[in-house]
Amino acid sequence: MQVLPALHEHGNHVVQFYEESDYLCQVVADFLVAGLSNGDPAIVIATEEHRVAIVSQMQSRGVDIEHARVQGRLTLLDARTTLESLMGNGAPDAALFESVIGEVVSPAGTGGKRACLYGEMVDLLWRDGLQDGAIQLESMWNGLAERHSFRLLCAYAMDNFASASDAERFMEICRQHDHALPTERYSLRNGATQLLHISELQQRAKALESELEYRTKLEAQLLDALQERDELLHRERAARADAEAANRAKSDFLAVMSHELRTPLNAIAGYAELLEMGIAGPVPERQREMVSRIQHSQQHLLGLIDEVLTFTRSESAPRRPLENVNLAEALRAAELSLLPQMRSRSLTYMPVTCDANLVVCGDAGRIRQIIVNLLSNATKYTPRGGTVGMKCEVANGRVAVHVHDDGVGIAPHHLETIFEQFFQVDTRLTRTDEGLGLGLAIARRFARAMNGDLLVTSTIGEGSTFTLLLPLAG
Ligand code: ADP
Repeated sequence: MQVLPALHEHGNHVVQFYEESDYLCQVVADFLVAGLSNGDPAIVIATEEHRVAIVSQMQSRGVDIEHARVQGRLTLLDARTTLESLMGNGAPDAALFESVIGEVVSPAGTGGKRACLYGEMVDLLWRDGLQDGAIQLESMWNGLAERHSFRLLCAYAMDNFASASDAERFMEICRQHDHALPTERYSLRNGATQLLHISELQQRAKALESELEYRTKLEAQLLDALQERDELLHRERAARADAEAANRAKSDFLAVMSHELRTPLNAIAGYAELLEMGIAGPVPERQREMVSRIQHSQQHLLGLIDEVLTFTRSESAPRRPLENVNLAEALRAAELSLLPQMRSRSLTYMPVTCDANLVVCGDAGRIRQIIVNLLSNATKYTPRGGTVGMKCEVANGRVAVHVHDDGVGIAPHHLETIFEQFFQVDTRLTRTDEGLGLGLAIARRFARAMNGDLLVTSTIGEGSTFTLLLPLAG
């Protein structure tokens, strides 16, 4: 029989951590047998599995279990049943503990005897997820020890503390005891082996400390980076809100200005017409020509104002719902509105060839507006006698409408900038009829709002092809 006097010298309340039940049961049996040999009674509050193993270990150390029980020197209790009898509201109840456990401990510790008690109810509570309850129960045991004479050995499976977040509570358990015994891995009794294992333990602790330090540093860096990202996001959001507010102010200003300019312009148009009609007396030929110029300029100015208004609206207006649009009809309508201008510039027009049943997903009004803009540009930027045309093809679930001309063309470095608002290439061809450089910006914005796009290819002196891409109706 191997007795562990050391266990008894460690104090009144000792905790044993363990990895294998076999080892635990040996330690418990040693503890109890040492007590029994000393004439002290033994009490075991353990699970059935552990009770059977402890009893068997005690028997192998020469204890007559039945005899000891009959004599009242050995009490065997079930840990689960005993624990249930002292629980109240999901936690161990101090009054129930006092009466249930007090009743077991009190007779055992009389007549100068000091009971040796092994209990694992705390381990059960821990496994049940009631860690606070386990710590409360430990402290109840400490309270009981002040009124009764016993030595208490508790045990916890090391598996319970596998996570780094258990460290705090692990220390709390250790603090509840006079002595904490490490698991069998570090408790071998052979001096040399023990030294080896302690070195191994120290090495592991060192490695863990370094790992912890490294992770803490990493965590701090991560937090800094997150904070920096939040600040950036915050600044970016504020800048975007400022830009949106400025843009809204600009749009409001343009909308009001355009509206205000239309009233005097309409008055100019009206009075010019009255003059032309001879309401204020006969109009000599020379003055008639001047009135016609006034009317032409008035029309031009009105066109520019309308363009600004359309652009302003395209920026702030909510998205319009998309619907199925017969493409051939929309293209035909745009074509018709441009024919007179083309004729007046003696251009040859190659009418669109488009499947009459082709249906796209979009907005008929906006498709027409885009095509009118492209044809009008083709007309403007193609010298007299040139050719303008429109073609249509289907590829990859999309329709491509090409508006082509053999006009002045666009330099490679201007191929993207022409889509920017208020951008114009200075060409002598259009000096007198200049627009504002908004048409293509509006057209591309409309195309993209329909989940399509507007692209261009061009060679200077040879002509340009603008391509409107639109999704086919599903
Ligand atoms: P605007 O025609 O009012 O100037 P746009 O936005 O429609 O404005 O066009 C921007 C610029 O793109 C034009 O000033 C012109 O230089 C160039 N451009 C557009 N279409 C053509 C074309 N078919 N051929 C050559 N240049 C073109």
